[in-house]
Amino acid sequence: MLHQIQGLHHVTSLASSAQRNNAFFTNVLGLRRVKTTVNFDAPDVYHLYYGDAVGSPGSVMTYFPFPYAARGKRGAGEVGTTAFAIPLGSSTAWAERLAQFDVASIVQDTLFGAARVQFDGPDGDHFALIESESDGAPWTAGGVPVSMAITGFHSVALRLADTGAMVELLTFMGYARLETYGGITRLAVDGGNAANTIDLHATPSAPEAKQGAGSVHHLAFAVENRARQLEVREALIDTGYAVTPVIDRDYFHAIYFRTPGGVLFEVATNEPGFDRDEDTANLGQALKLPSQHEHLRSKLERTLEPLEA
Ligand code: ZN
Repeated sequence: MLHQIQGLHHVTSLASSAQRNNAFFTNVLGLRRVKTTVNFDAPDVYHLYYGDAVGSPGSVMTYFPFPYAARGKRGAGEVGTTAFAIPLGSSTAWAERLAQFDVASIVQDTLFGAARVQFDGPDGDHFALIESESDGAPWTAGGVPVSMAITGFHSVALRLADTGAMVELLTFMGYARLETYGGITRLAVDGGNAANTIDLHATPSAPEAKQGAGSVHHLAFAVENRARQLEVREALIDTGYAVTPVIDRDYFHAIYFRTPGGVLFEVATNEPGFDRDEDTANLGQALKLPSQHEHLRSKLERTLEPLEA
């Protein structure tokens, strides 16, 4: 069993409009846009990163906004819900805030005893806010007071036709089964960051999910550094997984592998982080390009949608 995985690092999803996506995450949810860059594999599209005050691993929601992309279809074999942690006692204030912004499908309920607000993002993405004791370094300059501010991810919920192989994989990755209720199996990794929980929903009769705007593209797990990442890579390969070589994403190093049931996993390093190429005070304001795409700058500055600060 691996001991290097510390919980979630980031969650990456697809969107249909950079402007709408940016407005939702910064104005409605009050996260900080901690990096404005492009998809390294398709540089005519943004890669936008939102997180806490510094973009801590375990807080970073990222998007590839493909203009006018068709919506995904929910189903089995995907991340069904991305859940953020909010302070204890703040869920009703959040439900009211989301209603003020005309957010769709707001539902207040509880999950495993914790107060929760579920809602949809601008592309039908499914989100939840879950009250949790986690502290952190929330961003409060976006208009959400510290008494409510999102501190990072709480968990993600995967929808799978069959959860058995995923339980086996997550157990290998260092997660332990905590509890099962109403068809949901909850696992968590000990000694990691605050985003250490994963829920598995067994959805045997659901059609297969179809990826599009509003779908999660992949889920990234955090490891401390490149040495730990190589240990994880080797162990996964020894177990039979087809894992990519290490790829430099400028703000972290990444490896990817497809999991049983179809969800794409990444393992990302906590270092070097988002202050690698700009001051913490100015994170996310300027368009940052990786050196291999710097020659495209003048074209991209003309063609990418301008974003509100
Ligand atoms: Zn990623």
